[in-house]
Amino acid sequence: MVKKYKLWQKVWVAVFGSVRLGLRQPAGFQAPTVFYLAKCKIHGYYEGYWEGDGPILSMPCPVCRKEAK
Ligand SMILES: [Zn+2]
Repeated sequence: MVKKYKLWQKVWVAVFGSVRLGLRQPAGFQAPTVFYLAKCKIHGYYEGYWEGDGPILSMPCPVCRKEAK
């Protein structure tokens, strides 16, 4: 499914790295999670959520994450 993002969202991603899309609860999730739009330099736009513990949160590109394994 091809999703079109609004221009302001793309500008926001370019400036801040990610933009909040809203709360979603995909299958398997215990609670609603805030999803963000971000951009991979290699694979383009992707959606994800912040994960990890501590001060540094990461939202890696799903394709990059697969290739890293
Ligand atoms: Zn990537």
